[in-house]
Amino acid sequence: MKVSFLGTGTSLPDPDRVQSGVLVEAGGISLLLDVGSGVLQRMTQSGVDLTSIEHVFISHFHIDHCSDFLSFCQSLWLLGYNKTLELYAPPRMREWSRGMYDIAFPYLREKLLVEKTVLKEDDVIHLGPVVVSTAPTTHSTLESRAFRVEHDGKSIVYSSDTAPCREVIELATGADILIHECNWLDGDHPKGVHTSPSELAEIVEHAEPGKVVINHISPEVVAKEKQVKATVGRRTRAEVILAQDLMTLSL
Ligand SMILES: [Zn+2]
Ligand SMILES: [Zn+2]
Repeated sequence: MKVSFLGTGTSLPDPDRVQSGVLVEAGGISLLLDVGSGVLQRMTQSGVDLTSIEHVFISHFHIDHCSDFLSFCQSLWLLGYNKTLELYAPPRMREWSRGMYDIAFPYLREKLLVEKTVLKEDDVIHLGPVVVSTAPTTHSTLESRAFRVEHDGKSIVYSSDTAPCREVIELATGADILIHECNWLDGDHPKGVHTSPSELAEIVEHAEPGKVVINHISPEVVAKEKQVKATVGRRTRAEVILAQDLMTLSL
């Protein structure tokens, strides 16, 4: 299994980080987890064959997780993509899809076949030898999903956006790699939206993943990298990494 970090930033502008996107390649299948602004460019920079991607999972419909989807579709069309693109997302996909295809960009509907699957809170989707399991996250008022991808005894979990959440901890338990958001530093923040380094330390203590990748990082978190990694790692022996755009991990 190979994991490519395409976008590791947030909606705050950052010269080194674009918005959310992770590509997972396993068992001959390429699947994209989120496709925020800049992810299309990062895919071309990383040398990914866009036409090899047949499955796109969108965790939720905040702009930084889905805004490159249509640009991606347009590129696939121009590249002569002749397959059906499978899109999986929470229930809000219905409204989002109507707005995009019926109102904003109706011409795109005929250019590319997109099969849409609405994700329940705890879906299990089999893609050949790869299994993707979902869990609901706690993220403001939007329905959102975390994903666990498993193949050949290896597993990665992608939290997407979430405050500390029992369902995500359960999904992440024992994963080889936990890619978890850490949007902001410890401090006084709205409840039920994002995770701070101290909160992530508790999550890691409970989930016991083999490795932790701190993801969805705002500039204030990047500026305190050393301190953030020490905080997240204080209750675990697992390796703690700060995600970087275009970083890859193999397992
Ligand atoms: Zn969000
Ligand atoms: Zn986000």
